[in-house]
Amino acid sequence: MQVAPRTVVSIEYTLTDEDGGVIDTSNGGDPLSYVHGVGAIIPGLEAALDGRASGDRVAVTVEPSDGYGEHDPQLVQDVHRSQFPPDADLEVGMQFQASGPGGSRVVTVVGVEGDRITLDGNHPLAGTTLCFDVTVVAVRAASEQEIAHGHVHEPGGHEH
Ligand code: ZN
Repeated sequence: MQVAPRTVVSIEYTLTDEDGGVIDTSNGGDPLSYVHGVGAIIPGLEAALDGRASGDRVAVTVEPSDGYGEHDPQLVQDVHRSQFPPDADLEVGMQFQASGPGGSRVVTVVGVEGDRITLDGNHPLAGTTLCFDVTVVAVRAASEQEIAHGHVHEPGGHEH
C-alpha cells in the first residue's frame, strides 16, 4: 500500500540539523504513526513521503518555510521576573507552556539579565533547516474515525 491521504503511516526517523546534530530520533523507541494528508506532520516531510511504500527510505531536507516556519523576531519579548512564581529557577534554555488568545505554545527562556527575562515564543525549531532520514515501516488504511480526528487510534496509544 502506498502513502496517500487517508492512510496511517508508521515511520522510523532521525532528524538532524544541517551540521548533523541529532534533534530527534525514533531510534530505540516505537515508530511514529500519523494520519497522512491532514497536516499532522510538517508539510515538507508529508510531501516527501507521499506515494512511498513500506520499506522505502527517504532522505529529505526541509527548509524552515516547509517546516516550523521562519524565526519571528516579534515573538521575542522581555518580561519582568515578577511575572513568574517567586521560586521559579529561571535559566536560559528553559521551556514552558504559555497560554494566550491563540492557544498554548511553547515558550523558551533565551535571556536572563537581572530582573529582565527574555522569552522566545517561536517554535524551538523555527528558522532551522531540518534533515530527515526516514524509513517507512507500515502503511494501512485509516479508519473513518481516525480521519475525522486527524490522529491515530491504536492499542497502547491514543484511545477514547
Ligand atoms: Zn481520536
